[in-house]
Amino acid sequence: MGPLDTHAHLADLPDPDGAVARARDSGLSGVIAVSATVATCGGTLRLMGKHGGFVHAALGVHPTEFFDQDLGAALDLIREHGGECIAVGEIGLDYWHKLVRRDPTTKERQRGFYVEQLRLARELDLPVSIHSRGAWGDCLALASWHGPGKGVFHWYSGPLDILDGVLDAGYHVSCTPALGASSELRAAMLRSPLERILVETDSPVWIKGEGRASEPADVLLTLRLLAELKGLPLGDVEAATSRSAARLFKI
Ligand SMILES: [Zn+2]
Repeated sequence: MGPLDTHAHLADLPDPDGAVARARDSGLSGVIAVSATVATCGGTLRLMGKHGGFVHAALGVHPTEFFDQDLGAALDLIREHGGECIAVGEIGLDYWHKLVRRDPTTKERQRGFYVEQLRLARELDLPVSIHSRGAWGDCLALASWHGPGKGVFHWYSGPLDILDGVLDAGYHVSCTPALGASSELRAAMLRSPLERILVETDSPVWIKGEGRASEPADVLLTLRLLAELKGLPLGDVEAATSRSAARLFKI
């Protein structure tokens, strides 16, 4: 099987169908489309319907998007489509977000969204895709208490002692094309065993080195950077990360 982009905000891309076509042409075997709001959950489901077998859906409310979201509606939607999804995400905590910094009491509501989605993932027996910026320890602690016990700490760039806890708890970590620019991400990927690493793009996040927005085909760049960092043959890194993704998400 070809490489899989395990985390792309496909519904947020300007031309998702074109990006899917280019991903197929580049030899990818699939894309996991994550969601951030109730509205993008709808977009994700539509894209999965259109590109069945290639686009896989993860539904959830993102920790920087929860401010105006209806948690009950999000949970109903995830439960309704739980059987068609391969994960709950993108969920998590972000203590560095400007609105959370401005008003720390919003952390409580952010944690409420995270915990309820973790519990639903456990109930549905689905892995979670976790955003943990600035809140790595709390993300791990709450996932351990309430989560399904499987998933990925996406784009992990936090402290290495918490990374050890993430790996000990059985989670995967993932990296993006930011491997070319972020020393924190590089340090985390150097410390993690290859069989626990997944590759992704977090499209349409900007690729600093290239001065453009990313799309799923750029997971090939992530793979090249990871192989270089690990000093391993590209083929081995591609095979190992694809195998791990297929096993975790049951693709
Ligand atoms: Zn994301």
